Amino acid sequence: MLYQLPLAPKYGELSNERLCAGIADFKRRLGSRLVILGHHYQQDDVIQFADFTGDSLKLSQLAAEHHEAEFIVFCGVHFMAETADILTHEKQTVILPDLSAGCSMADMAHIDQVEAGWPLLEERAEGPITPITYVNSSAAVKAFVGRHDGACCTSSNAKMVMERAAAGFLEEEPALKVVGLRYFNVFGPGEAHKGTVYDPRFPDGGLSAAQVRAAQVFLWKGHCSVHQLFTTRNVEAIRALPEPYAILVHPECEWAVCQGADRVGSTEYIIKTVREAPPGSFWAIGTEVNLVQRLARQHPDKHVRSLAGIQCLCTTMYRIDLKHLYWTLENLVGGRVVNRISVDPETRRWSRVALDRMLALRPAQPVSAR
Ligand code: SF4
Repeated sequence: MLYQLPLAPKYGELSNERLCAGIADFKRRLGSRLVILGHHYQQDDVIQFADFTGDSLKLSQLAAEHHEAEFIVFCGVHFMAETADILTHEKQTVILPDLSAGCSMADMAHIDQVEAGWPLLEERAEGPITPITYVNSSAAVKAFVGRHDGACCTSSNAKMVMERAAAGFLEEEPALKVVGLRYFNVFGPGEAHKGTVYDPRFPDGGLSAAQVRAAQVFLWKGHCSVHQLFTTRNVEAIRALPEPYAILVHPECEWAVCQGADRVGSTEYIIKTVREAPPGSFWAIGTEVNLVQRLARQHPDKHVRSLAGIQCLCTTMYRIDLKHLYWTLENLVGGRVVNRISVDPETRRWSRVALDRMLALRPAQPVSAR
């Protein structure tokens, strides 16, 4: 994880009004040279200045379409800014306003752990292995996957990518085993939870030779520290309410929570479901609180609340605030680039292979919509 040096005290002394007025002025002065991207989990103070909002991959693709933008300021977390740098033109500069905005999930698969564990899996698996990584991973892990004939996946298309990987992307030699470098619920509620968990904290991933031989899918142990806060107790509490709440959760929630939900799907799927729901409908949503609160404000004709009573906040993304955005843009106006996120050419090349292999597959579908 990178570390952000504290900003000069003068930024802490500026009121929100001054910060907002300054950011608006810097944006106007930079014009089409600047694109600001805002992830759905970002706080409203920052989102109001975003030219585009979306999930990490959609935002990176949008940035790549805007060739005229010299500067891409990504109000998200570190792996998202890396993905934007991989997908955009080399002349474009990607900036993360606070370098400490990391992702706990991405940090759970360090490239050194992946490289250390792979040879043993290959040796013992008795067949080809195709690595798959969730896009919430470092560029180094994506590059590893690209170099080993694998692909990235998102929460929308994970099931499809893994099925295609198991069949062999190139329809040549079938891949017998898949290493998903993430542990999250790629199979929707009602389906079997298949997979052998590889835990990098233990020698050999905590697996015996026989377990490695028998496994069809290895799931890298890791989780999103935000979505794992939702529990089956939350589900039971909502079910006990007199109102007919439908429970809608992100697949990064734990398996039992997904099984207890009515619908499971990506961030974009959650937004679309609430948007298209009839007036008066009740929704208890298991995803990051900033998005849930925004959906509640945007749809006052529907009853939208968090699945949990506690605030499930992505605290790392929350580090990107008005002060850091102001500081970033002020420097750009002054001709200085701060906090550039730059992926080295070799890593960029191979991580692009992993991303492109995913993007070449058919359009993503919701994980589940029962
Ligand atoms: S919500 Fe979870 S997966 Fe998304 S950026 Fe935050 S910690 Fe990472």
